[in-house]
Amino acid sequence: MDTNTKVFDAVVIGGGIAGLQAALDLGDQGFKVAIVEKDASIGGKMIRLSKVFPTLDCASCITTPKMAGAAHHPNITLFTYCELKALKRVNGAIEASVRQKPRYVDADKCIGCRQCEYGCPVMVPDEEQGGFTARKAIYIPFSNAIPQIALMDVENCSLCGKCAKVCPTGAVDYFQKPVDFTIKAKTAVVTTGFSLTPLDQKKEYGQGKVQNVITSLQMERLLAPHGPYMRVLRPSDGKEPDSIAYVQCAGSRDKSLGIPYCSRVCCMYAIKQAMLLSGALPLADITIYYMDIRAFGKGYEQFFQNAKAMGIEFVKAKVAKIEQGEGQSVVVRYEAQEEDGGVRTREHDLVVLSVGMIPEWNPAGICDLTTSSDNFIRTVSPKVAPCLTEMEGVFVAGVAAGPKDIVDTIAEAGAAAMEASKYLYSLGEASKAAA
Ligand SMILES: Cc1cc2nc3c(=O)[nH]c(=O)nc-3n(C[C@H](O)[C@H](O)[C@H](O)COP(=O)(O)OP(=O)(O)OC[C@H]3O[C@@H](n4cnc5c(N)ncnc54)[C@H](O)[C@@H]3O)c2cc1C
Ligand code: SF4
Ligand code: SF4
Repeated sequence: MDTNTKVFDAVVIGGGIAGLQAALDLGDQGFKVAIVEKDASIGGKMIRLSKVFPTLDCASCITTPKMAGAAHHPNITLFTYCELKALKRVNGAIEASVRQKPRYVDADKCIGCRQCEYGCPVMVPDEEQGGFTARKAIYIPFSNAIPQIALMDVENCSLCGKCAKVCPTGAVDYFQKPVDFTIKAKTAVVTTGFSLTPLDQKKEYGQGKVQNVITSLQMERLLAPHGPYMRVLRPSDGKEPDSIAYVQCAGSRDKSLGIPYCSRVCCMYAIKQAMLLSGALPLADITIYYMDIRAFGKGYEQFFQNAKAMGIEFVKAKVAKIEQGEGQSVVVRYEAQEEDGGVRTREHDLVVLSVGMIPEWNPAGICDLTTSSDNFIRTVSPKVAPCLTEMEGVFVAGVAAGPKDIVDTIAEAGAAAMEASKYLYSLGEASKAAA
């Protein structure tokens, strides 16, 4: 076997909450597990959230221990900033071809001291903070990122050399190249999660055009304890908003965008954010424009009723257009479904689009997994074994298989780990029988 091949019992693709849970469950059973994550840190979307419904627990208080647990687990190895090129069955084993993308920082030398960040003169919008604040061209993605290794954003780097000059360990390496390697395992768990529904085709919602129209993930950052402003402010002028509106099903249940399905979490996270906003801005009016409220999980209906009792206004309406209003306000034009069906307009200081979920990863051309009509990974027997895919020995969990909340994601990741473990034992029994 060449030195570029690393051998494990299981490979987990994706280091979000589903991947971390599946890897921890397999690692705790004594299996050697590799996690392949395309981003520079593990943690997925959950580490970017503020608090989580229905308990309003702090998201990073749940995610950080799992991230640290995986990083320090004797049976788990992390491969971050790694791109999956192929996932194949070869002679009864799973082979993942992986490309380690260049960080332009030597991971073995970097001690995470951030001197390079302080020295770098280039400022670019920080996507981890919803684009509201800036980061440097060389940076550690966020304060509790794992691993704490810097990476350089070459597209914005001016090649001034200041980071290399201040780095105490000589870790900056402008000439670093991608490194290809293979992970050989007996089983794989795919947990590639989701991206937000893109709304650039939905011009009538004004995203990126109308000031003070933001996405729900940006609002998560505004509400987070380590958020960009440490409080909720209107991005255009830093004013505390007196009136905030949520537009539900923005990019879900919308055939014109090719996304006819319900993303399942948006009603609940909008209600959660509205409750958190009521605490942060007690005098603000909060309105949720919705088509149907889908409070499907344990305790969720009560959560919805509590929000109504707190004074959050729910308006059954289809929002037709979002436009720039007077000054920096936003005008919402909607069809009032519970009244006469007529068109009404209202002005708000800030409008949040409750965007939905599309798959982050498409297996086409990379492996033999296929997708369902919703483009999420097809499972062969959703009622009997929900994590089973069309590839023998490959299991799926979390939003990679379809939209779901954290409770269902974690339960499914545990189930996928159990299926993978059963599969590994069955191989053990088979090889014992053959011996
Ligand atoms: C605004 C918002 C608020 C939310 N609030 C809540 C809440 O309060 N409560 C709740 O229960 N749920 C909430 N959710 C839903 C929650 O975020 C998801 O249920 C959860 O994050 C799903 O985890 P996951 O691991 O399946 O996916 P992700 O978190 O998307 O993780 C997938 C990981 O896989 C990686 N990846 C993708 N493709 C590849 C590849 N090819 N190779 C390697 N790695 C790859 C990604 O980089 C990512 O790290 C919210 C969602 C949103 C959008
Ligand atoms: S690259 Fe150097 S300066 Fe930057 S965090 Fe790593 S060790 Fe510190
Ligand atoms: S070389 Fe690039 S990353 Fe380093 S300090 Fe200069 S601009 Fe920043």
